[in-house]
Amino acid sequence: MAFWVDDIADQIIAANPDKDREIILRDEKTASGKVHIGSLRGVIIHGVLAEALNQKGRKATFYYEINDVDPMDGLPVYLDEEAYTPYMGMPLKDIPAPDENGRPTGEVTPENNFARHYGNEFIEVIEKLGFNEQNHTKFIWASDLYAAGNYDEWIKKACENPGRVREIYRKASGSVKRENWNPLQIVCEKCGKVGPTTVFDFDGELATYVCEKDKVTWAAGCGHEGKVAPFGGRGKIPWKVEWAIKWAGFPRPDNEIGVDVEGSGKDHNAAGGSHDVSSGICKEILKAPVPFNIPYEFFLFGGAKMSASKGLGATAKEVSETMPPELLRFLMVRSKPNKPIDFEISGDTIPRLYDNHDECARIYFDKKSETPDLGRAFHYAQLDPEKITEKYFPRFSKMAFMVQIPHLDPLEEVAKMKEAPLTNDDKTEARERAEFAKMWLNNFAGERAKFEIQQQVPELASTLTTDQKVFLKSIADLLQANPDLGGEELHGQIHELKNKSKLEPRDAFSAIYIALLGKESGPQAGWFLEALERDFVIKRFGEL
Ligand SMILES: [Zn+2]
Repeated sequence: MAFWVDDIADQIIAANPDKDREIILRDEKTASGKVHIGSLRGVIIHGVLAEALNQKGRKATFYYEINDVDPMDGLPVYLDEEAYTPYMGMPLKDIPAPDENGRPTGEVTPENNFARHYGNEFIEVIEKLGFNEQNHTKFIWASDLYAAGNYDEWIKKACENPGRVREIYRKASGSVKRENWNPLQIVCEKCGKVGPTTVFDFDGELATYVCEKDKVTWAAGCGHEGKVAPFGGRGKIPWKVEWAIKWAGFPRPDNEIGVDVEGSGKDHNAAGGSHDVSSGICKEILKAPVPFNIPYEFFLFGGAKMSASKGLGATAKEVSETMPPELLRFLMVRSKPNKPIDFEISGDTIPRLYDNHDECARIYFDKKSETPDLGRAFHYAQLDPEKITEKYFPRFSKMAFMVQIPHLDPLEEVAKMKEAPLTNDDKTEARERAEFAKMWLNNFAGERAKFEIQQQVPELASTLTTDQKVFLKSIADLLQANPDLGGEELHGQIHELKNKSKLEPRDAFSAIYIALLGKESGPQAGWFLEALERDFVIKRFGEL
């Protein structure tokens, strides 16, 4: 079996045999607040597939829609509840963006509003990951398509026979709608809210509606009753019907309509879930094909599904700042869509992710490997696969070690590790890893990985036994006699000295860390002693 990206891309091509027809992929996110890291999974799956299709010779574009017409139906904890309550129930694009204190700024324009504020923040993260106009990803705003009238004929179709729409809901999900329910709401002409409105009649041109005071708990309507044409953005379709309309009515650049590929999260794909309802509406009412589906699992963070709307968990923006974009792509791409990703950012997760990435890079460059799949994971993690050059990846855990030793030049050390001069790409990579290593040490590393060389004999050294002191003295003698001993060799010789002494391995190594760091554990002893100034170590071990 081929790597999942290649496998699914081939399936998509088989489902779209007309070689001259552009393949349209679509996904969306409602801009209801800060976007949590889990939402990147869908973005990356679609973005990488669009790249793969183009690499396989098929023109394909991924349209990522920011939904800015949904009503505000809940408030994230970082916003001022009292100040935002009057806006509850209004379309997100009609609500002011927050200032730094989480209070509305009072100014709403098409370019500056609540939805743009959070939508643009998320778009920036996505572009940083290499998905942008130059690379087959385009961003669209739901309100633009509504305003341009792209959905008008479909709204008409869905609303012509509300009884059949209700029947599909009942058949697919068991949800029973009241008899005069219409798949339509109106943005109230008086108060601007859409959440509390109910349409009780639609004659094909005009919808009669009421803005109800107590229809929903989260927004109070104004009581206005009106009759208006639900087109050009005045009407709003409930989401399961809207999803079907977006599949059927998407305005393609080739002047046709429709979406070819749209995956969705596990929650939408349960039996009787929204995908079933929307598929029924798409096929039976709109008479349009359902796009190729890619159901995908959750991206879990710290063992629980993150919820940025409650102010818990990490946002996409925050996580994107903790690692290079290639590594974040790699984290998502290496797992098949149907496998949950469970990422606990603290401890050694990031160094292990780097090690796994580097292993896949080696397989990518060494084309004779028996596991080419892992090489493909590296390939699709790159921002621009056209520009992949072979470079040296210094081990992340070792970089994290080196940046903690004063006066050590990481570039020189990396050249020693490579056993060859560094290219410009090597240097850029090494510098970047050094920066991310510092970030990891400051925020996520466990105590074991962190240390500080003690300039004075540490207090804890008074607990060393005579055997431990003798062992340290033997290391000092070894260093004195062999000034050129390298890390691996040194590590081996220290093991021999430890075997000669009567010490348990644990007590032997802790003696080294106690003497230099004032704590009982530390980095690999060979690396460590090699990296420190010899005279300093000889003096310290001798002193004890
Ligand atoms: Zn109203």
